[in-house]
Amino acid sequence: MPRPMIMTALLALAAGAAPALAQEVNIYSSRHYDTDEKLYSDFTEATGIKVNRIEGTADELTARMKAEGENSPADIILTVDAGRAWFADQEDLLQDIDSEVLNERIPDYLRSPDGAWYGFSTRARVIFYAKDRVETPPQTYAELADPKWKGKVCIRSSSNIYNLSLMAAIIAHEGEEGAKAWAEGVLANLARPPEGGDTDQLRGLVSGICDVAVANTYYFARAQAEPVEGIGADVEKIGWVFPNQETTGTHLNIAAAGVAAHAPNREEAVQFLEYLTTGSAQEFFANQNHEFPVVPDAEVGEIAAALGAFKPDTLNLNALGENQAKAQAIFNEVGFP
Ligand code: FE
Repeated sequence: MPRPMIMTALLALAAGAAPALAQEVNIYSSRHYDTDEKLYSDFTEATGIKVNRIEGTADELTARMKAEGENSPADIILTVDAGRAWFADQEDLLQDIDSEVLNERIPDYLRSPDGAWYGFSTRARVIFYAKDRVETPPQTYAELADPKWKGKVCIRSSSNIYNLSLMAAIIAHEGEEGAKAWAEGVLANLARPPEGGDTDQLRGLVSGICDVAVANTYYFARAQAEPVEGIGADVEKIGWVFPNQETTGTHLNIAAAGVAAHAPNREEAVQFLEYLTTGSAQEFFANQNHEFPVVPDAEVGEIAAALGAFKPDTLNLNALGENQAKAQAIFNEVGFP
């Protein structure tokens, strides 16, 4: 536990604390963008509620909240991946809330059935391919395991939450035996042992290491929006496929938030989450990372919209958490790095 860092953050929180009667809300966030400021200042302007942010990785913030226990100042946990939100709930760091606004505006498959966490933007985990080398790219996740792609597939490590969540969804649809066969097939097709993050898989397409890669949509969108080292203008040479359009739909995940178990400012926290479902907040929240809004009438950003409409997998994302341990066990069993 990096104690000096915690002390600094606590002091910062104490120093920034408003007078006792002023309303405030404390957000523990593992999602950070420079453009977040506007999202928070708009809320403060509209409600008079001050927003204090504590940032860190999901693991750091989870450890911190456990250490703080009932005295934790955290009101909201903001994280990425339903698997992580589910885990925070398992650790009793979240409380169930019942908000008509959230229940009405957020599709039910994108929130926890008991009100512990809610999705505020979505990202799809899709198949990318090198357009100059691949004429007929895989159209399903299952096809990634086809021997036809031997030595051609790039994907990051199985220990990463994005892949655990994808695997958890495959377990939900195909059963454990089917999921295991899939993991074995993909492992046999790898172009190289898994390395790096999603952007590195896209770099692998550009450098010619692999012909087919798996990544979240926003990594590709980011490479389209700004020059990314190792991709640059070659982003043009990458094609994409939203998998499983004829069957279960494309695997989705979320940026998720919920109210902390011991939130000192519970009402303000709920108010903030409800604010995140307003049209302008939705567009801002999703667009800053080229994701998709969860509220159906919110406008999709230009680059994300250019990826095209697709059918999402509407499996309740709670399954990603419930199957997380099984997903890890299957990856371990087949020796997927
Ligand atoms: Fe990411």
